[in-house]
Amino acid sequence: MSIKENLIRIKSELPEHVKLVAVSKTKPVEAIMEAYNAGQRLFGENKAQEMSAKQPQLPADIQWHFIGHMQTNKVKFIAPFVSMIEAVDSLKLFREINKQAAKNDRVIDCLMQFHIAEEATKFGLNMEEAVGILENPEFALMKNIRVCGVMGMATYTEDTDQIHREFRHLKNIFSELKERFFPGEESFKEISMGMSGDYQIAVEEGSTIVRIGSSIFGARS
Ligand SMILES: *Cc1c(COP(=O)(O)O)cnc(C)c1O
Repeated sequence: MSIKENLIRIKSELPEHVKLVAVSKTKPVEAIMEAYNAGQRLFGENKAQEMSAKQPQLPADIQWHFIGHMQTNKVKFIAPFVSMIEAVDSLKLFREINKQAAKNDRVIDCLMQFHIAEEATKFGLNMEEAVGILENPEFALMKNIRVCGVMGMATYTEDTDQIHREFRHLKNIFSELKERFFPGEESFKEISMGMSGDYQIAVEEGSTIVRIGSSIFGARS
């Protein structure tokens, strides 16, 4: 199957309101252009240098989501153009994104990454840590970031009940934060969950953004 055929098939499975991030990490610009020519405009990368190297070689109307663990010293490479930073997991990182966004005279959309997997290895916040950030007086002063929702990754497992549980947990986190901290804020609306292996489950559990790589571009070496 070609990249175009994969995109058409996946898009046909997604409800209208669910955004598809085509995860192009490790893939060459030619592969990204193939997806672009099939109509795809939203792409995801997980390394700042890789993203900032690809971006100038590709059409300017591509929206780039940074989906990986972000080191504070790398924010400056992507701050001029990134459309959303999906995996923010500390006040320190928000502080740096806010600073670099201000330097570029823009507001950067962010998601807060939560640790929802039973696996111990994945990054992310728990509820208590997130509340600590959102209630921090310093956070309220950060005018160059906009928190648009939450992001998470489920355990890599065959146990679909477990995946359902973990995604449902993220949806509940979203609802609680919405009610407590973002009532009436229309821009707080995103739940980024679901990858090649589990996006159908994520969509059933209320995902608004799925991040799909290998099912579009083929396996990564
Ligand atoms: C690589 C990656 C994806 C896409 O993974 P696939 O299994 O190839 O679809 C999604 N989200 C994050 C955070 C990733 O790092």
